[in-house]
Amino acid sequence: MANNRKVEKLLSEKNKIERELRNIRDNCNHSKQTIKQVILGEGCQTSTRWVCDECAAVVGYPNESELKKFLG
Ligand SMILES: [Zn+2]
Repeated sequence: MANNRKVEKLLSEKNKIERELRNIRDNCNHSKQTIKQVILGEGCQTSTRWVCDECAAVVGYPNESELKKFLG
């Protein structure tokens, strides 16, 4: 498969996946949350956030004491 066809296919799959994720997240009440390291954007930069256990959405920032507890 030519690269441009492959990219086109991947992008359309990505759109489909993102739409599905958004759908799940919109319907989730984020009742169970855990502090986790998440990857931000396209780079490999990670940050610590409250993440929903059900749908993996980033739901908030931990405060300083929560962060200390998480980092040990
Ligand atoms: Zn959720």
